[in-house]
Amino acid sequence: MLSNSVIESSFMTGELSLDAAVIDIFKYNDGYIIITENSPFYPKNYKWEDQKSDVGVIAFGTHILNIVKTYTAAIIDGQVYIDQNIPNKLNSEDKLIPAHYLESLNGLEENFIIDRKIIISKKVKLSVDAEARHKISAVHSMVHFMSLALNKAANKYWNKNYDTDSLGNFNLDKASIFKSSISELQSVDIYRFGKSIKKKGFDKAAFLQDIDSVNEEINLTLKNWLSIGNEIQVEYISKNIGDLRLWKSFVENYPVVIPCGGTHIKNTEEIKDFKVEINPGESDEYIEIITHCKLR
Ligand SMILES: [Zn+2]
Repeated sequence: MLSNSVIESSFMTGELSLDAAVIDIFKYNDGYIIITENSPFYPKNYKWEDQKSDVGVIAFGTHILNIVKTYTAAIIDGQVYIDQNIPNKLNSEDKLIPAHYLESLNGLEENFIIDRKIIISKKVKLSVDAEARHKISAVHSMVHFMSLALNKAANKYWNKNYDTDSLGNFNLDKASIFKSSISELQSVDIYRFGKSIKKKGFDKAAFLQDIDSVNEEINLTLKNWLSIGNEIQVEYISKNIGDLRLWKSFVENYPVVIPCGGTHIKNTEEIKDFKVEINPGESDEYIEIITHCKLR
């Protein structure tokens, strides 16, 4: 029976390549899933999908196969659950693990699926596409700075107390983030200003009226904050995907912390240029903030 006791995940350490034994392989949708006892791949979060999952390769002897997507999976009582099939309630011993998705096994389908002995327990080399990861990590870090700059620019529109961020500004990002899609060099973040944010004391009408100057202020603030290299750290307590991780950096020598399960760059020096662009959303309840990034 499959057991999750030996499985761990290593994307939080910054590792991009490692050797690990295959513990399961099976058909999934139009392709295949391979699960290994360890993995450097960042999996799509099944609850809050913000950061795009890693792509890369898996090498089995001389065979190199493409991993086109990474899901989160859970092994419960020897049964594998993938992505949206993971039950809402998990026990503490139900570990979340990366599940590598391949569109094709390049002719090895018969061998791997029918005669699983050929691959189960065998060591494979898993390597993340480092360039894609770097581009995603850069914009993910940039989005955290953007959220802090947004909170700063929006601070004056609050007329009640609300939770504050690390810089002491009311946390509009936390109160109104609706959807976040972080991919290579670009993130699209949708914010929702419905009835509940009004109740929390945010003057949505005045904010939306000033949205162009807010946009300008965010870009100016970020230029000032990132004019020197800011170190970034991802703090983790374990190699379990489900455990809390913290993004830590500095803004004008002041420490900033944001809970975040994603991957990040080591220093903002890696970013050559950036631009934040605020657009109207699908109705006047929404705005869309696009963060663009260029690497050195
Ligand atoms: Zn994050």
